[in-house]
Amino acid sequence: MPEIEELLLPHISRLKTYQGVSPSETLAEEAGIPLEQVIRLNGNENPYGPSPQVAEALGSFRDYNHYPDPSQRRLRGALSDYLGVAEENIVAGNGSDEIIDLLMRMFLAPGDEIIIPVPTFGMYSFSADVAGAQAVAVPRDDNFDIDIEAIRGAITPRTKAIFFPTPNNPTGNVVTEAQARALLDTGLLVVSDEAYYDFCGQTLKPLLSEYRNLVVLRTFSKWAGLAGLRIGAGAMDAELAATMMGMKPPYNVNLAAEVALLASLSDTGILLDRVDAIVKERGRMYRLLCEIPGITVWPSQANFILCKMPDGRGLEVYEAMCRRGVFLRYFDNDLLRDYIRSSVGKPEG
Ligand SMILES: *Cc1c(COP(=O)(O)O)cnc(C)c1O
Repeated sequence: MPEIEELLLPHISRLKTYQGVSPSETLAEEAGIPLEQVIRLNGNENPYGPSPQVAEALGSFRDYNHYPDPSQRRLRGALSDYLGVAEENIVAGNGSDEIIDLLMRMFLAPGDEIIIPVPTFGMYSFSADVAGAQAVAVPRDDNFDIDIEAIRGAITPRTKAIFFPTPNNPTGNVVTEAQARALLDTGLLVVSDEAYYDFCGQTLKPLLSEYRNLVVLRTFSKWAGLAGLRIGAGAMDAELAATMMGMKPPYNVNLAAEVALLASLSDTGILLDRVDAIVKERGRMYRLLCEIPGITVWPSQANFILCKMPDGRGLEVYEAMCRRGVFLRYFDNDLLRDYIRSSVGKPEG
């Protein structure tokens, strides 16, 4: 009889786990501080929470005993109004992370490749690894701008797709339309992950009508404060959307997430006021950080700011902040040695 491990797929048994953010209780316990003192600035979450309408709508909804609609009729209708894209071009996901995973499973066979300009969001290489494929990392330039020539040079017969966030996580800068067109003209699948769109207003969405190989991702985790309910969406070519609708888990978006999304989209006034407050606070935080000698601060179009600490001091600063209850994102890798990312919080902390 084989050992159970021998039946496992080799690329799954050697998978590198994605490091997500820990619950506040765990952070408090590890830092030895009371729960109320935890300031979470490590996950780019919304410090203001969801719209007040969300709790109300979740509490008064009566049909949790029903399955969600596999065709996502109400969801896609609401998303269509919000995105200004036809329903047939939209798929809702259990977070935009699920759309990323579905794209990998639609396009990648074991041994295939995607290209990711790095440093960037960790989910692309993680999901590619799960599919048995390989994420080929192409370094960005000194300003963290994507390097079109280097990306072109990294394309092989096995390359299927190019994934990038705009604004990029964790560097905060955007991909221009001209850069996007250069990538789209390769004919590969190009995924513009616009998780932070609402903090900058720049989108590649208008290019959807020109390029069938473009997918634009949006999430309600950041600007709408729904990270815990898991709801995101992809806008794409209608045939691609139909294929994705046909292969996704039928009930992928739960009814609580649907109810919360509909309530949020009917209460965007307060949510957008909070986005404005976060953008204003981002400016204040940027100016204050720039005044600290020895650290380098990158301008950001998102709800976080990336800084470089003096050489060899990143871990020390990160740990000192943890002890004070301020949890930041520290990157334990060569590309971002001594860098720290902080989400933009409330002005009063
Ligand atoms: C936070 C983040 C996401 C995650 O979105 P979910 O909808 O919560 O899955 C996707 N892409 C980027 C670049 C992010 O930073």
